[in-house]
Amino acid sequence: MGGKNNNMIIANNVSKQFGKLKALDNVSAICNKGECIALIGPNGSGKTTLIKSILGMVVPDSGFITFKGENISHNWLYRDDIGYMPQIGRYPENMTIGQVLDMMKDIRSSKKELDEELVIQFGLKEILNKRMCTLSGGTRQKVSAALAFLFNPAVLILDEPTAGLDPIASEFLKAKIIKEKEIGKLVMITSHVLSDLDDLITQVIYMQEGKMIFLKTIEELKMDTGETKLAKAIASVMLKN
Ligand code: ADP
Ligand code: MG
Repeated sequence: MGGKNNNMIIANNVSKQFGKLKALDNVSAICNKGECIALIGPNGSGKTTLIKSILGMVVPDSGFITFKGENISHNWLYRDDIGYMPQIGRYPENMTIGQVLDMMKDIRSSKKELDEELVIQFGLKEILNKRMCTLSGGTRQKVSAALAFLFNPAVLILDEPTAGLDPIASEFLKAKIIKEKEIGKLVMITSHVLSDLDDLITQVIYMQEGKMIFLKTIEELKMDTGETKLAKAIASVMLKN
């Protein structure tokens, strides 16, 4: 778990209801620096709602979330320290890639040094003049990923990051995630492609019907299930539930 100073994000009994549906049902979790946490669970289990609650895009009905020890409600500055890669990135479609990057730099006006590693590795510098509306799904994903890392945030939240990326780009992204984790950042990833996560993740949050069924280290999960591959370990858990 790590000491108190390692706590980056804490969810305390967070619940969120949409009509009669409990999207989040009393979810509690501690997420620390240097962890790479996979958020796993069936469709509709509350993964995106949890991510959006952390980002302040969804306000819990009860419970609360802290970021670096501070309650995030009525606070927005903490978001400067989060890089978010949405599942589907939406951009002004007539803008070029270069204009989108410049616009984000203006909005964030971050004093931190920019991290352009993915911009360069993904070859985005060569296509800065392409308009967003002309991009393939994979190239759009590259822009989203590059933006998430660009401002050197302490926390990275990636929703299905490797979906649609070509294998080379996917490997660049995975290497980047590992590198950032190793320098103490917190990375949270949702993915349906569990084989993509094997070398990356340190813990797993498993969600079902809005409930957090468990938060385990990868070692605990493998020990509990007797499986060495994440996909098999998760399949074993799903069969039991
Ligand atoms: P997941 O990301 O695990 O697929 P979500 O967090 O997106 O699941 O959704 C959890 C449940 O909450 C789903 O049943 C979904 O339909 C519902 N839900 C999510 N957002 C809203 C919303 N804004 N209004 C109504 N229902 C919602
Ligand atoms: Mg989702």
